[in-house]
Amino acid sequence: MVWNFANETTAKAARPFYGKPRYLSGFDVEKLLTGVHSELKYLQANTVIRIAHEHADRRLQFRRSKLRWRSSGGSKRSLGWIPFRHPQVKFVKGAIRFCGKRFRVFDSYGLDKYELRSGAFSQNALGEWFVNIAVKTATKAPDMPRRAVGVDLGLKASATTSDGQILAAGDFYRGIERKIAEAQRRGHKRHAKRLHQRAANRRNDALHKFSTAMVNNYGAIYVGDVSSLKLAKTKMAKAVLDSGWGMLKTMLHYKGHQAGSLVEVVNERFTTVTCSNCGQHTGPRGLRQLHVRGWFCSACETDHDRDINAARNILARGLTGPSAGTNFKEQKHHVH
Ligand SMILES: [Zn+2]
Repeated sequence: MVWNFANETTAKAARPFYGKPRYLSGFDVEKLLTGVHSELKYLQANTVIRIAHEHADRRLQFRRSKLRWRSSGGSKRSLGWIPFRHPQVKFVKGAIRFCGKRFRVFDSYGLDKYELRSGAFSQNALGEWFVNIAVKTATKAPDMPRRAVGVDLGLKASATTSDGQILAAGDFYRGIERKIAEAQRRGHKRHAKRLHQRAANRRNDALHKFSTAMVNNYGAIYVGDVSSLKLAKTKMAKAVLDSGWGMLKTMLHYKGHQAGSLVEVVNERFTTVTCSNCGQHTGPRGLRQLHVRGWFCSACETDHDRDINAARNILARGLTGPSAGTNFKEQKHHVH
């Protein structure tokens, strides 16, 4: 209701029946909505204000005076979204208190340890409700000196670092694939959807943990761009892979920015076939050799793990250049 009011008002102001068009800011709309929360029973002033400002931000983002209406029904119904600010919510005895009501939550984080900030109740496509809250934590000073690291992105959004750390990410669907097939066979669409969601949650969780560990431990992070060789190997849709890789890159980028680490994309051409010790092209070549995990350099007699070796080459390339020099924003437009 609040969103649609804001939408209608700003649209009318931008194209009035007479007079000059006016472009209303979030603050203008906020003023017009004064007192509305006392008319609507379970709504507080902060929620109304945040909706008005979110609407204004989206109008700016999409450069429109009018956005889509939010609707409660139909195939294109909007998912529930109720924003709040921190004095409005309290976490008491396993439940969130909001507008005089208690909402029991599954609290896997130990929320009573934190000071709650702003957030929102939101709904997913299955109709389940979640609460997303920003919390205040102690800021951690970066541990100096901070080293540099190379990251080789592998299949199924896995990643290997030049220090030999591995994001084993191929297992998000482990134990779930079979269940999904079964659910689909029986026509249980909703259950299948839920299982896909579970795999996606696992992936997101792993990506977050990995990227956070990276920016906490390293001052410079060099990531290989994704080669078409890897894509050719897989039967999985390119989009699925890209999203995992893209998410990891995005996370590294923004977390690195916050932590003050350098994050760069490096051309990973020849990083698999080059020996990171002597620089000769003695490594496994071509598609047929992709299954080779470890190999032996015939020139300098060093044992290599394929992915760690590649990550070391990426690191060396990042440190010495010719710097690919591309940051993520530019990289996004590249076609592999
Ligand atoms: Zn060698």
